[in-house]
Amino acid sequence: MINPLSPHAAEFIDHSGVLLILDEAKRLSSEVSAIDFILAKAKEKKGLTALEATSLLLCSLEDKNEEIFELARTIKSDFYGNRIVMFAPLYLSNHCLNGCLYCPYHKKNTNIKRKKLTREDIVREVIALQDMGHKRLALEAGEHPKLNPIEYILDCIETVYSVKHRNGAIRRVNVNIAATTEAEYRLLKEAGIGTYILFQETYHPITYKKLHPSGPKSDYAWHTEAMDRAMKGGLDDVGLGALFGLEDYRYEFTALLSHAEHLEAVFGVGPHTVSFPRVRAADDIDPGAFGHGVTDAQFAKLIACTRIALPYVGMIVSTRESPECRARALELGVSQISAASRTSVGGYEKPESSEENSAQFEVIDNRSLDEVIGWLIEKGHIPSFCTACYREGRTGDRFMSLCKSGQIQNCCHPNALMTLKEYLMDYASPRTAELGEALIENEITHVPNVKVRNLVAARLEAIGGGERDFRL
Ligand code: SF4
Ligand code: SF4
Repeated sequence: MINPLSPHAAEFIDHSGVLLILDEAKRLSSEVSAIDFILAKAKEKKGLTALEATSLLLCSLEDKNEEIFELARTIKSDFYGNRIVMFAPLYLSNHCLNGCLYCPYHKKNTNIKRKKLTREDIVREVIALQDMGHKRLALEAGEHPKLNPIEYILDCIETVYSVKHRNGAIRRVNVNIAATTEAEYRLLKEAGIGTYILFQETYHPITYKKLHPSGPKSDYAWHTEAMDRAMKGGLDDVGLGALFGLEDYRYEFTALLSHAEHLEAVFGVGPHTVSFPRVRAADDIDPGAFGHGVTDAQFAKLIACTRIALPYVGMIVSTRESPECRARALELGVSQISAASRTSVGGYEKPESSEENSAQFEVIDNRSLDEVIGWLIEKGHIPSFCTACYREGRTGDRFMSLCKSGQIQNCCHPNALMTLKEYLMDYASPRTAELGEALIENEITHVPNVKVRNLVAARLEAIGGGERDFRL
């Protein structure tokens, strides 16, 4: 049985408990009355249990599926409006001791060029990212205590925050590094990171063992209990995710929701974000080899059911997905996307030559940030470069209570408009600037509170006059 309060991974994601949920959900998924009951609960927008959400995921009743997708769209719109937060990854080092079979950075891969950014490299990369318009980064590094110790990561964070080029600044650094100790998580907190991200890859303990034959990451419990240590170390914004395609996506979904239930039960706050990477081709990696490919239709359903199960959570899709797939994901629940990503170590200032090839995975959406921003605006979204919350101390349960009460919208919408205006002034092409200005002019009329509307209008004007970094 799953015990959400247990500190042990084997109990809060008990394998036989997940299988029991899947069995029971399969039974419920074909019963119209059960699905209606779950949908009625979901409409209260307070989330669902893993069993309820899995029942929706497994449901193949056509008209009920229509309702599921419609509800996901409504919840997305109620909690996130039409805003989409932008970010980019920055790979620091691909030295790694682990043997992950789905990642070209695994220790035994001798084809790939090993690289580690120096402080000077980081300054150049960050300038290139700032010159595109990025304000929010996710730092990524392989696990290598000698070559990528925590001191190196801390130094990189400090360097990223220190670079101020023209009007550019990276205002939020999220970090995706290997599972570590509570003491090291505390150091990340002190360094001022936003979210600590760690993908589970697969929650299935037997598959996990097979796919992680060597290195520190082969310890399932150490990896799965990492978020508990992160929370205890003060990092109250944590990002979950599974690498879809390694195991049956239904298993991953149930287990991921059980993980979220565990964090909520023990720490009073669930995950800040959930990411949806699908396994992709890379040097030495054939995604078909894992035998659990997720179709676009299954992927869309996964996203819709996660949005319904966790209404408040930030949901992330990267450039691993095509523009068409990202468009559908945005509509059904995704609230953050990366753009113009390089998945190699470095590569923003100067793209890698084909001989260098240090990419972690193949990028499918290769558009520039400006193209993605213009595309989002044309699709009716507001691209947002907002990073206000953690800078205003709105993290963890403080953030979640604002989300749950719906009050966060009063900050997100104006902040999206002000940060978009900065982007338009500093980085946009004439066409994107024109589209964006029209969007802002229209959107400002939707700020419900007159005082806030006037304040935002004044600040937009000030941004037009050269001032920067306003936030609510
Ligand atoms: Fe290393 Fe992470 Fe790649 Fe595994 S997934 S080989 S830990 S970089
Ligand atoms: Fe995110 Fe907070 Fe900005 Fe809203 S106000 S977009 S929740 S950082």
